[in-house]
Amino acid sequence: MTDDVVTVARLEAWVRLFADLIAEHRADLTELDSAIGDADHGINMDRGMQAVLAKLDDTQLGAADELFKLVGMTLVSSIGGASGPLYGTFFLRFGTACGPSVALSADDVVKAFRAGVEGLVARGKPELGDKTMFDSLHPALDALDAAVGSGLSREAAFAAAWQAAVRGRDDTVPMVARKGRASYLGERSAGHQDPGATSSALLFEAAARTFET
Ligand code: ADP
Ligand code: MG
Repeated sequence: MTDDVVTVARLEAWVRLFADLIAEHRADLTELDSAIGDADHGINMDRGMQAVLAKLDDTQLGAADELFKLVGMTLVSSIGGASGPLYGTFFLRFGTACGPSVALSADDVVKAFRAGVEGLVARGKPELGDKTMFDSLHPALDALDAAVGSGLSREAAFAAAWQAAVRGRDDTVPMVARKGRASYLGERSAGHQDPGATSSALLFEAAARTFET
C-alpha cells in the first residue's frame, strides 16, 4: 500500500457515491427484497442516503468522526427497516475508529472498516452463510486486509475488496436465510440474491471507484 493518505473529503466522496449508487439501484434492491422480504430495501436505503446527502450539503465537516457520526445517526433515524440500525452502526463505529483525524493512512481505513463490520455483527448477530449483508462485507474486509498487508496499492486493494464483495453477494443466492425477514421463508429463500448483500457490494463499489486514483 502506498503511503498516501485518505482525506475526509475523499471519505465524504465515498459516502456520496454510495448514495448515488443506491439511488441508481433503488428499484433492483427493492425487487430483490420483494422476492424474499417486504419489498422495501431499495426504498429504505435510498431514503436514508438521500437524508445523508441533504445533511452533508448543510454541514461544514471537520474530522472523519464527525462525518461518520452524521451518516450513522441519519441512517439510524431515517430508515425503519433492519438495514437502518445495521448500516447506521457500521458507520458510527467506522467513525469512532477514525477518531478526530482529517487524513487517514491505509491501515487506519482498514481498521475503521473492521470496526464498522464488528459493530454491525454485534448489532445483528449475523454469521457467515446466514444470507445477509455480512456475507458480502466479511469477504470484502478480508480481501482489503490481505491486500493492504501484502503492500498492494490503494487502488488494487479496494478493487480486490470490491471483487470479493461481489463474489460474496453472488454466493448468497443458494443460501437459506437464517436472519431477518427472509428467514421466515425457510428453504424457499434459496435461489434468490440477498438484498442487503447487494447494497453492501455497492458500498465497496463506491469505495473502489472513489479510491482508484
Ligand atoms: P427489513 O428486513 O426490516 O425490511 P431491509 O429490507 O431494509 O429491512 O433490509 C433487509 C436486509 O437486511 C437483508 O437483505 C439482510 O441482508 C439484512 N439483515 C436483516 N437482518 C439482519 C441481521 N440480523 N444481521 C445482518 N443483516 C441483516
Ligand atoms: Mg425489507
